Amino acid sequence: MRKKYTTEGKSQPKKGKVSYPKLVLCDVCVREFVVISEGDRTYEPCENCGADS
Ligand SMILES: [Zn+2]
Repeated sequence: MRKKYTTEGKSQPKKGKVSYPKLVLCDVCVREFVVISEGDRTYEPCENCGADS
């Protein structure tokens, strides 16, 4: 099961807006990201590894 997470971007620009991309992540990949907030469950595939089972 994947969830939608609001994350800190992997690379932050020194200037400009800080972006918090929303990603669909599985429970394995989510450990690689700094999660700001956790969203709803989704059946979309993981955007990091493509897992969809
Ligand atoms: Zn994944």
